[in-house]
Amino acid sequence: MSLQQPYDPDNIFARIIRGELPCAKVYEDDATLAFMDAFPQAKGHTLVIAKDTEATNLLNMPAERLGPLMADTQKVAKAVVAALKPDGFRIMQFNGTQAGQTVFHLHFHIVPFYEGSAMEVHGKGQAEFSELEALAEKIRAEL
Ligand code: 5GP
Repeated sequence: MSLQQPYDPDNIFARIIRGELPCAKVYEDDATLAFMDAFPQAKGHTLVIAKDTEATNLLNMPAERLGPLMADTQKVAKAVVAALKPDGFRIMQFNGTQAGQTVFHLHFHIVPFYEGSAMEVHGKGQAEFSELEALAEKIRAEL
């Protein structure tokens, strides 16, 4: 998908926001939703998205909404760190197919890193929903 492609209201994250598809929810308020990545690259891989937006990527998100979304990403990252005690984490964000983006609703990845374990390949290997829900519960407890 090009950077200019119009927003698809039936993309996976839009359907998760509408409750049409399940997710292991970590955090939700009026503007933001955070949930476990279904194909995690590490234990605790979490996604943070804005609700009520048609931003496919960073370029078409209203600038005034980025600050609050980033603050919520920090809030969720703190809870991931408190719950799972990784040695580090990455915030990742992809724009366009050529850059690795696969879901065209703006989102931030929180990917924990643990000493001695490497990051899994992007989007490979689906996790059991029960495992994701157990991790989400641990993270929620720290919010
Ligand atoms: P992107 O590749 O666009 O940066 O990230 C999209 C992310 O969404 C990927 O890491 C992928 O594993 C995740 N993902 C794809 N489909 C689903 C789904 O149905 N549920 C959840 N929770 N994550 C998904």
